[in-house]
Amino acid sequence: MRACRTTDERLFDFVDGLEPDLESHVETCDYCQDFLAELWVGELSTDLSAPVLRQIRFDEFLRELGQLTVDVATAMARAFLAYGPAADDAGEAESANLLPPPDDEE
Ligand SMILES: [Zn+2]
Repeated sequence: MRACRTTDERLFDFVDGLEPDLESHVETCDYCQDFLAELWVGELSTDLSAPVLRQIRFDEFLRELGQLTVDVATAMARAFLAYGPAADDAGEAESANLLPPPDDEE
């Protein structure tokens, strides 16, 4: 358990919108903010089509936290660069260089 004594389970519920009372705590808690950042990055890396609803809620959550979430926003930006559409494009470009174009279809 983290130093602030908020359990992972409560934070999962918070992300799902079931623990709105946690918001004022998370706003000021580095431990919880770190966990939420890792949670978001973890979801992104395991399943790119992860529940959109959860991501939208998290986006709203970040907007509400505003300037206090610089670290979380940075983690999200890193995750997006690592796993997002830009990463896919880079991978495709790389394999395109390795393989000849499939021009024998006509
Ligand atoms: Zn906390």
